[in-house]
Amino acid sequence: MSIDSLIRNTIRSDVLAIPGYHVADASGYIKLDAMENPYPLPNHLATDLAQRLANVALNRYPVASYTTLKERICKQLGVPAGYDVLLGNGSDELISILDMACAHQDRRAVVLAPVPTFVMYARSAQFAGMDFVGVPLKDDLTLDKDAMLAAIAQHKPALVYLSYPNNPTGNLFDENDMVEIIRALGDTGIAVVDEAYEPFAQQSFMSRLPEFDNLVVMRTVSKLGLAGIRLGYMSAAPKLLEQLDKVRPPYNINVLTQVAAEFALDNIEVLNGQAAQLRNERAALSAALTAIPGVQVFPSAANFILARVPDADAANAYLLSQKVLVKNVGKMHGVLTNCLRITVSTPEENAAFLAAFKAAMAA
Ligand code: PMP
Repeated sequence: MSIDSLIRNTIRSDVLAIPGYHVADASGYIKLDAMENPYPLPNHLATDLAQRLANVALNRYPVASYTTLKERICKQLGVPAGYDVLLGNGSDELISILDMACAHQDRRAVVLAPVPTFVMYARSAQFAGMDFVGVPLKDDLTLDKDAMLAAIAQHKPALVYLSYPNNPTGNLFDENDMVEIIRALGDTGIAVVDEAYEPFAQQSFMSRLPEFDNLVVMRTVSKLGLAGIRLGYMSAAPKLLEQLDKVRPPYNINVLTQVAAEFALDNIEVLNGQAAQLRNERAALSAALTAIPGVQVFPSAANFILARVPDADAANAYLLSQKVLVKNVGKMHGVLTNCLRITVSTPEENAAFLAAFKAAMAA
């Protein structure tokens, strides 16, 4: 028996062919690569949370309906009356649930999205046995609505993902263009508006859910400051959500996450305050970057900034040498040539980044 032939005989060839999802080791670095909120919970809250977690019954499965947490999310996070949410182990799991629910058995279903965008849309589609169709953004990073509508007519996608704001470009697509796309899908496709960065954009389709039976609005608590607990939620017309919920693993949200999320909702003003602070820091960092000769800064409605530099590989290498991690997205897609994606952080970390970045630009 050889492990190599075992793998060849069992693991799918398309899985064998791709690299793993790489997450850089960040120890000792200023970490501006993953859109995390840099602020921890204040000490007194961390102590309170520890106490609550100590009382959790770890020997029992979670209450599989998650009723209390779901009701609180609906009430506090703007879900329309009469609408429920489906919870996921991060929105990453919600994307897999959507794909698994919509992948056809008799033919390959299509997932469509503007590109460049969040990489998990294509990756998850592949794992679900679906075809991914990417429609390039225009050079100014806006949605190419006509190309989107043409691709929808041609491919009849079961799912269209619209990251709002978009990762890695940081911009909000035009709301009317989005509505036209949602309408064009009609009853043959579901539009998923991914609002992972909503705390920084403060614009949302959530209140518009009742207008569209084929709309799913997906969010996460990750960017708000709880990336470690892994919790995403999505809402849609109740009849649609009921079908999607069949695909969810029954105990997908663990009891510690459940309690930590309820605790966060008790103290939501703290997280909202941190998001407000980061929005201010975003403005300051954008202005500082714009003032550096040779740097093109794109407008951002998220907690990161996309900037084009003369040589992204060289700038990134220098930043790494200074122990600063940003995301070099320059090779991801033509419209991103020589672009870096920089997560907005604390004033101190932003200043350290700027000092290193200015040195890189001057080199
Ligand atoms: N959607 C978008 C647009 C993202 O950028 C990310 C994370 N980078 C996610 C979803 C995943 O979020 P989560 O941590 O909830 O899995």
